This record gives sequence, C-alpha cells and structure tokens, in this order.
Amino acid sequence: MKPLQSMKKINFFHLLFLLSIALAAVFCIVSVVQSAHLQQVEHQLSSMRGETSRADHLQDQLQDLTAKYDDLSSRMAIRQSFSETHASDGTKIAYLTFDDGPSKNTSQLLQALKQSNVKATFFVIGLNCQQYPDAVKNEAAGGHVVGIHSWTHKYEYIYANMDNFKQDFMQLHDYLTQQLGSEPTICRFPGGTNNTVSKKYTKEPIMQEAVNWVEGMDIRPIDWDADAGDAETPIPTKDQIVQRVLREIGHKTNPVILMHDFGNRTSTIEAVPLIVQQLQAQGYTFGTLSAATPATLFKPVVTAAS
Ligand SMILES: [Zn+2]
Repeated sequence: MKPLQSMKKINFFHLLFLLSIALAAVFCIVSVVQSAHLQQVEHQLSSMRGETSRADHLQDQLQDLTAKYDDLSSRMAIRQSFSETHASDGTKIAYLTFDDGPSKNTSQLLQALKQSNVKATFFVIGLNCQQYPDAVKNEAAGGHVVGIHSWTHKYEYIYANMDNFKQDFMQLHDYLTQQLGSEPTICRFPGGTNNTVSKKYTKEPIMQEAVNWVEGMDIRPIDWDADAGDAETPIPTKDQIVQRVLREIGHKTNPVILMHDFGNRTSTIEAVPLIVQQLQAQGYTFGTLSAATPATLFKPVVTAAS
C-alpha cells in the first residue's frame, strides 16, 4: 500500500503543480488579450475624440461661412433693390462731383457752375468747412447737394478701426445737419469703397463693415466712374482735364465725374464750362446725386480675404 500511496501523493502534487501552471498561463493569456483589447479601445476613443474636435471645428467654420453668406446675400439684395428702384431709364445725365473742399477757390467754382447753369454735388471735409464757414451754406443755397466725405480725411485714422471711422463720420454728419438744417443722405468714402486705399492702414480692413454701417443709417455711399485726374501732379491743364473726362465717360449713360475743390489749382474751375459744353453737345443734362441715383454707381467692396 505504501508505494501506491506515495505514487498517488506524487501524482496529486504533480497534478496540482501542472494545474497551477496551466491556470497561470491562462491568466497571462487573458491579461495579454485584455490589455491588447484595452489599448485598442483607448486608441478608438482617442481617435473618436479627435474626430469630435474636428467636427466641432468644422461646425464653427460652417457657422462662420453661413454668417458671411447671409451678410453678402442681404447686401446683394439691397443693391438689387437699388437697381430695380433706381435703374437708369436711358436718359443721359452726368453728375459733376467735387471732393475735398471747401477751399479758397470754392466761391469761384460756384460762380463757374452758376454761369454754366448746372448743379453739382460737393463731398466736403469737416476741417475745411471750419476754415471756410460759409461755404457749405453757399453751396446749398446755389441748389447744389452737399454730402459727407470725412471730417479729417486722414486715412490712417479713419480706416484704423470702426470706432475712429464712426467718430470721424458722425462729427461731419452732425456738423452738416446743424449747418444745413437737414441730415445728409449721401456720402463718398475717402479713397472710394473699393478698399484699395483703406486696406493699407489695417490688418483687417473695415471697409465692408463701414459700408454696412453707413447704409444702415440710410446714407448712400457713392463712388465715381469718370476720374478727371485733377488731383494728380503735375497739375493737369484745363484741356487735359476736359480730354480725360470725355475719355473716361465714353458711352456711359449716367457718369459720375470725380473732380476736386482744391485751393492750390484753378484748372479744374476753368475746365468746368468746357466740360459742360462738350457734354451738352453730346445730349447730356446735369444732375445732383441723391440716394435715388442709379445703383450702377456702386463699386464692389473688396474684403479682407480678397
Ligand atoms: Zn477725398
């Protein structure tokens, strides 16, 4: 019995040992498999987290683009409504406009316009109005239209940010309202609304926002489509100004002619009667600008992204 008992004992411990090894092996395999599985799950979770943050980012971009689209759509609708309401009926009307005055030559310019029996539009500078306090009243009394240009005309100030732009604009708006007894309804942005000038003075050009803000006050920004070139140096002669104006007008039905009321030159004033004669001979009459002038006068606004 003894050897048999001993053999049984050996076999029992042997079996127990083998069982332990087997259990340990199974445990190891399960651990390895679980760990691999956990790693896989973690990897999946982190890639899902990455995708969620990408989706959030795309959502933000989508919202941003949607806002820009809405803004552009409403601006296009405004301009479309202008062109539908105020489309040219084909009548040839030219608009003489004089920027940057008043000056010491304003009364002489008013005299030349009176002699030619035409009315014009003046986009004035506030600081010059203070220097020639009777000028805007004389312009309005002569049947001409006075619009906002800028209080300071300092590009680096007015186009630096919206606060500066609004301050400068409203200073002249309030001054003209007080001087003329009614609010101005038109304006011309210094350098024009196409942004080629203003974008030099800010990282994020404010032109689009400024145009929206002005239009929101029912004031109409108006550019030009025939540049007389009279602000250039050397100062052009009256004949050069006339030729340039006729060339720029070409076959336009409602040209808006950009000229200047500067104190350091008189060739613009001398050119006025000649321009009037030439254009009248071509069948044009002369008008003043208003919020109802044909919308083709708008130039596209270039945004920061362009
Ligand atoms: Zn100007």
